[in-house]
Amino acid sequence: MKQYKFQYQSTPSFVQELEAFRAKHPMANHVLFGVYSDTLDRRIVGEACDAIERVFPEAEYYGCSTSGNIVDCGFQHGITIACTVFECPSTRVLLLQYEIDNSNVEEVAAQLTAEIQRNPWIKAVELYFTIFSGVFTRFCEGLSDVSEEVQIFGGVSCSKEIVASDSFVLTRGGGYSEAGVAAVCYGGEDYHIGSMRITGWMPLKRRFHVTSADGCLIKELDGRPAYEVYRRYLGIPNDENFFVNCLEFPLLYDFHGISILRSPIACYEDGSIEVAADVGEGSFVRMAYGDPRTILGAVNNDSNRVRAFRPDLIHIFSCSARKAFWGDDNPTYELACFEKIAPNVGFFTHGEFLRTDGRLDPHNVTLVLAGMREGNGANRILEPSKYKGTPRILTRVPLVTRMATFISAFSKELEEINNSLEAVNQQLKSAAITDGLTKLYNRREIQSRIEDAFEQHPDAGFSLVMFDLDNFKMVNDTYGHKQGDLVIIALADLLRNGPAGSSAGRWGGEEFMLLLPHSGLEEAAETAEQIRKAFSATDFETIPSQTVSVGVTQVRPNDTTDTLCTRVDAALYQAKQTGKNRVTVLA
Ligand code: GH3
Ligand code: MG
Ligand code: MG
Repeated sequence: MKQYKFQYQSTPSFVQELEAFRAKHPMANHVLFGVYSDTLDRRIVGEACDAIERVFPEAEYYGCSTSGNIVDCGFQHGITIACTVFECPSTRVLLLQYEIDNSNVEEVAAQLTAEIQRNPWIKAVELYFTIFSGVFTRFCEGLSDVSEEVQIFGGVSCSKEIVASDSFVLTRGGGYSEAGVAAVCYGGEDYHIGSMRITGWMPLKRRFHVTSADGCLIKELDGRPAYEVYRRYLGIPNDENFFVNCLEFPLLYDFHGISILRSPIACYEDGSIEVAADVGEGSFVRMAYGDPRTILGAVNNDSNRVRAFRPDLIHIFSCSARKAFWGDDNPTYELACFEKIAPNVGFFTHGEFLRTDGRLDPHNVTLVLAGMREGNGANRILEPSKYKGTPRILTRVPLVTRMATFISAFSKELEEINNSLEAVNQQLKSAAITDGLTKLYNRREIQSRIEDAFEQHPDAGFSLVMFDLDNFKMVNDTYGHKQGDLVIIALADLLRNGPAGSSAGRWGGEEFMLLLPHSGLEEAAETAEQIRKAFSATDFETIPSQTVSVGVTQVRPNDTTDTLCTRVDAALYQAKQTGKNRVTVLA
């Protein structure tokens, strides 16, 4: 497998170059052309394609728009044409192309799946997608039935302007499409493929909950407009430079156990953030930081995996955010380590694709690499890598990494403080409404619950029951205050276990209120009687059994908390007057 590159200047010169190439390589019959264009001009792109057809009438080609082309680890504007020459007759290529809109994403994915399944020789599917909002994850999920053996990778075509939304893909059979996907399928006995991804961005510890999202729009993080995270933590203003300012800090999205980066590309007035591929509502994101030395270290280290594969050529899909990160002076700075591995071609994308562990995912800010080879690669002599291990500049941990560690440690401490504060808060809150001796609600709380009942159950006819221990002063006087307390607690325990939805509170020293929001008068009287009976049967071991008097009433249409409490008190008074240890009902 060999790869040759051409730079399109004009049709006559390109035709001439292709003819010279064909003359020089008469054996090059089995070829595939890739057209990488940072211009969207359909006419010029069409001319380049026509030239290919003229000189290689039998050849297939695919193409896409780019935010700049990658040619042997360097950067190229304009139209770059890569010619792959297959040397093994068994190697096969199949090009497919589909138009896509929001309504047929699943259908197209199913058609592509079926086509791949119809051709079991296929080992790799390279995807070229136009820019779409919010469909990538759906498309990827639609390919889940493709055999796990098949590697899938690719990129989203892009405009020269990173944030523009125009793009195209094309194939010889499908033509120029502004809304579609082109799939280049590779396979055959001697064809081998190794695909992988590298990011190099590091996560910060603080997690944010995606509380509202719609496709590529993250509307809320932790219940607040998403943009506030960028303003509060990074001081990034919501202006036309938002994208550039966010480049170093994409969001890291934990998805099915793998970390996926999402680069914010725009920010709207309502505080929602647009990212380059969808993020699921309910998921968690962290902010990631990009540090040149850390990124370079990751790329250099991982380049050795590509090397070990001994590819004949490499296809590179690098996020345009990475290009912007390294800057105009050397946008392909991080790619130098691939130079000596194999000839390569690729482009700066709007998004990347890679299948890992059987799952295809859309990525951002990521470098996706596909090494291809015919045969076992044993005959390829590789120069020793300059990039083995950690480059010398990386032996000292970069300052940002130290700062990030500091922030992580610090936020962990804050989180712990926060957790204990929350616990204390919870305790304070509960102490403020609880009676110390009985652990029932205190007077203020039960009173406020009675008030609430007027609003919450206005038509339910809720009931109120009041309890007062009989001859309790005598218990104290005879057996002591401590024994008295035990008697109070015993009644409180019975009240706590009242009917579902009831609230019990200590009204005074040995007086209690039981609010029954779902009970009518009869039911309340029954409950009261049960408690009275149970209490009188309570065995105190060291002192004789005790009794309690009970008043019961039900809310009336013109009642207030005051009139209701006065009436239940009157009912209780009657119970005392008529002999104690009884329930008196006042309707
Ligand atoms: P009656 O049957 O008419 O209700 O008679 P009583 O003795 O129960 O009524 P009284 O109101 O005269 O006495 C209530 C007593 O409750 C007085 C007070 O010392 C006692 N008491 C109030 N709070 C507590 C407490 O927290 N613990 C104890 N042990 N006794 C308390
Ligand atoms: Mg009393
Ligand atoms: Mg009493």
